[in-house]
Amino acid sequence: MGATIIDGRAAAERLRARVSQKVAELAASGTVPGLAVVLVGEDPASQVYVGNKTKQAQAAGIRHFDYRLPATTTTDELISLVRELNARSDVHGILVQLPLPKQVDANAVLAAIDPAKDVDGFHAINAGRLALGEEATVPCTPLGCLILIREIQPNLSGLRALVIGRSNIVGKPMAQLLLQNDCTVTIAHSRTRDLPALCQEAEIVVAAIGRPRAIQGAWLRPESIVVDVGINRIATPEGKTKLVGDVDFEGAVERVGAITPVPGGVGPMTIACLLLNTVNAAIRSAPDARVEPLSALDQSK
Ligand code: NAP
Repeated sequence: MGATIIDGRAAAERLRARVSQKVAELAASGTVPGLAVVLVGEDPASQVYVGNKTKQAQAAGIRHFDYRLPATTTTDELISLVRELNARSDVHGILVQLPLPKQVDANAVLAAIDPAKDVDGFHAINAGRLALGEEATVPCTPLGCLILIREIQPNLSGLRALVIGRSNIVGKPMAQLLLQNDCTVTIAHSRTRDLPALCQEAEIVVAAIGRPRAIQGAWLRPESIVVDVGINRIATPEGKTKLVGDVDFEGAVERVGAITPVPGGVGPMTIACLLLNTVNAAIRSAPDARVEPLSALDQSK
């Protein structure tokens, strides 16, 4: 029997509808959520991502403020822009699109963002709070993955989860979230020995390595839940290009219980979670409005 194909576009649409409702509720009490989006340089992929983020923010009723800076921008210039945005009461979320040009110290720029406005969840304060199990702004991609996994399997308690990749923006926070959900978590990386054996054991696999189709279908445990974060552009025999994930989808789909496609899986959830983090940052900035934050996982809240 074939796997359930997890429809990330539909899940993202449902989440965006809930965000829009919350934005309207907050706006009725006088606060319109505002997101500042900072793009440095002309990287075409980043331009597409930023364009999608601002378009979807606008559609949800979130005000966006766009900053397009030249590729020659210095660390100091970026930090002073971030400080200016930190001080503005109409900006509730600050997003600095990565990667930044080589001359910029990305860590210093991210550290300058007010943790309350850190809607990407990359600031050390938010990463630390997540690791401690405290309330934190959670990075958008792993949060989106968790929502998709929980829609398939609401109770993750005791399940063996394998996160492949240990980046600060995907792998590590993903592992923390699965641990918080009572999974037994293994983190694999480029030095891991015998990845196929780990995959064979795992009831949940999240692949985030950036290697096209590296995780073979035959490695995966039958009936497992597979979330493919990878976005890799490859050449086709027809001389065109197409996007594929880190998992060999065709091999996996006949074997596993559920799997996210690429595109149409995790990608749309990432942006929807950015909107969720932005409206929640705005709600926390306006306690007098008495609006409850939007829950990522409980659709009734
Ligand atoms: P990254 O910073 O390059 O990290 C890749 C991780 O994978 C590293 O921890 C690396 O190990 C590990 N790795 C590389 N090759 C491996 C292998 N053969 N076996 C096991 N582990 C291996 O990448 P990232 O930013 O986390 O992104 C990962 C992928 O997700 C990329 O394709 C990216 O485009 C995609 N992505 C998608 C979204 C989305 O919205 N869908 C968002 C973010 C990222 P070491 O630490 O040992 O080097």
